Amino acid sequence: MSEQQQEPWQWSDAHWQKIVAQARAGKKLAPRIWPNGARCAIALSFDSDHDTNELREGGQSIGRLSQGQYGNLQGIPRILDILSHANVPASFFVPAVTALLYPDEQQRISELGHEIALHGWIHERNSVLPLEAERDLMLRSSDVLEKVSGKRPVGIRTPSWDFSPNTLALICEMGLLYDSSLMADVDCYELLMDGKATGVVELPVEWIRDDAVYFNMNRFAGLRPQISPADVFDIFKREFDAAYEEGGLFQLTMHPHVIGYRSRIWILKELIAYMQAKENVWFATHADIVRYVKANHA
Ligand SMILES: [Zn+2]
Repeated sequence: MSEQQQEPWQWSDAHWQKIVAQARAGKKLAPRIWPNGARCAIALSFDSDHDTNELREGGQSIGRLSQGQYGNLQGIPRILDILSHANVPASFFVPAVTALLYPDEQQRISELGHEIALHGWIHERNSVLPLEAERDLMLRSSDVLEKVSGKRPVGIRTPSWDFSPNTLALICEMGLLYDSSLMADVDCYELLMDGKATGVVELPVEWIRDDAVYFNMNRFAGLRPQISPADVFDIFKREFDAAYEEGGLFQLTMHPHVIGYRSRIWILKELIAYMQAKENVWFATHADIVRYVKANHA
């Protein structure tokens, strides 16, 4: 019987060690000080899933597609207004299908100085793809984002933060600077593949710092928001407060079709105002933070 067919308690040490070693946290990349003497770095990100939220599973619901289009019509403009008013940059992770549906949105984001980075083709799950399909989709997505935004992306956030056994090797093959889909630390770190340093920087995410887990709803299943927008604000604020105390990194993931509602968008506005009221914070794109920690880690 092959080890794949065995129960986990029957696996040899070599088998589970190989599984664990596929993508591992290596050298910690935490600088002693941030640019201009800042105490804390702030990486705001928006995953512009829009209609791919429905299309990814083969869904064709016109109602749910309209919820996706809300991300373009209402979510993105509200977010960009707040970012522009506060004069802070952010990173937008954009599936290629979103970019093809809404090229004007990506051009505007890019012109405002924000970063556009990879987020799959149609929000597919990498872990169910054959190697050749995963490579093809990553390369074609890069081409689409470059064509639409005018810049070749340097980073990736895998859709649903889902890694296949080939994802890290493909990130290396494409020469990407960073990934932002894994969760091993609060600070940036270098990714190891089978024990070897890759040079790829991980800017870690966490579901705790993601709006979707608190606000997602499924009309025909039991999934409903369980806590109020004020409670979500409190969680994000506490995550920032601790990052500020520790002199570290505060990373946040939001979705235009989730946060961009009248009863929720204030979370972003008030959080930015709260963080800006502190002395010495550095708002930057994921790419700029990664470049800085690569050159300045302790
Ligand atoms: Zn997504």
